[in-house]
Amino acid sequence: MAQENYRVVILGSGPAGLTAALYTARANLKPLVIEGSQPGGQLTITTEVENYPGFENGIQGPEMMDVLHRQAARFGTGFLMGDVTAVDLRRSPFELTVDKRVMSVEALIVATGASAKLLGLDSEKRLMGFGVSACATCDGFFFKDKEALVVGGGDTAMEEATFLTKFCSKVTLVHRRDQFRASKIMQDRALKNPRIGVIWDSTIEEIHGQPDKTGVTGARLRNLKTGNASEVRTDAVFMAIGHQPNTGLFVGQLEMDELGYLKVRPGSTYTGIEGVFAAGDVADRVYRQAVTAAGTGCMAAIDAERWLEAREAR
Ligand code: NAP
Repeated sequence: MAQENYRVVILGSGPAGLTAALYTARANLKPLVIEGSQPGGQLTITTEVENYPGFENGIQGPEMMDVLHRQAARFGTGFLMGDVTAVDLRRSPFELTVDKRVMSVEALIVATGASAKLLGLDSEKRLMGFGVSACATCDGFFFKDKEALVVGGGDTAMEEATFLTKFCSKVTLVHRRDQFRASKIMQDRALKNPRIGVIWDSTIEEIHGQPDKTGVTGARLRNLKTGNASEVRTDAVFMAIGHQPNTGLFVGQLEMDELGYLKVRPGSTYTGIEGVFAAGDVADRVYRQAVTAAGTGCMAAIDAERWLEAREAR
């Protein structure tokens, strides 16, 4: 099998990956973006983005990612659909496998992002896609005039609950504490909505229903203060309890913190391995915004370009 050689490969096609692509393409490095299992990243499953500078009236997440994709392509970025199945960072150039293709890579930019967390219940797994979802934007449409629970108390939960009221007759936030961690503006927007209610201090212990047949029909909740269990009727359960970094591929190869986020040298995108750079949510447990991801994507591109130049000058 012929081996393909690349100077720069970027893993991930969210704002971090595509910004890194834009910059490395404009630096004539002919980058290849391996798009991953969710091309465009998390913004493709969101609605209105109101806080990305430059869009006075906001922009839809998927549309923003289309624009970024076309902007990176315009300068010669190559794109490959699919996921990296293996990576070997022990020697340089690095070796990547995507399905049956093997690539040799001089500089690698990891921008694999983060994925929605789940509660870890058997019933959640069984009913995933049959009323259980981690994406209101993707699945809300299926619950027109139905009732839904949204689990979580952060900005995502507020956003998902508010979005679901476009379709659902009633949305109930289920939160494990007695106050939300969401920003004030997002909380107010959700709490002022007459279709949104809240069950405080509670978690979901089990989701009822049968895949294919009834879908979700209800859930058993546990009040964490009183210890009491209760049953609620619902047609859907949306998980909005945060995200985890997509770093499984790098376990044992790149340094991570206790939550699995990649560690970078402060003020840069350098990982512990020369020639490997990390950008976006995969290395950011604090900010996790589209604009910070784009910013670190730009940093990774500049870091990679300078690292390649310095290496060639040696
Ligand atoms: P988050 O801020 O980490 O909130 C996660 C929520 O889920 C918390 O309320 C947490 O409860 C709860 N939770 C976590 N694990 C749980 C479990 N096992 N069982 C039950 N509940 C659980 O995550 P996020 O809401 O996804 O937001 C992530 C970042 O993105 C934040 O910085 C946020 O500001 C940002 N964001 C911004 C926007 C926007 O501005 N448009 C929209 C979405 C997200 P506790 O509160 O008790 O910990």
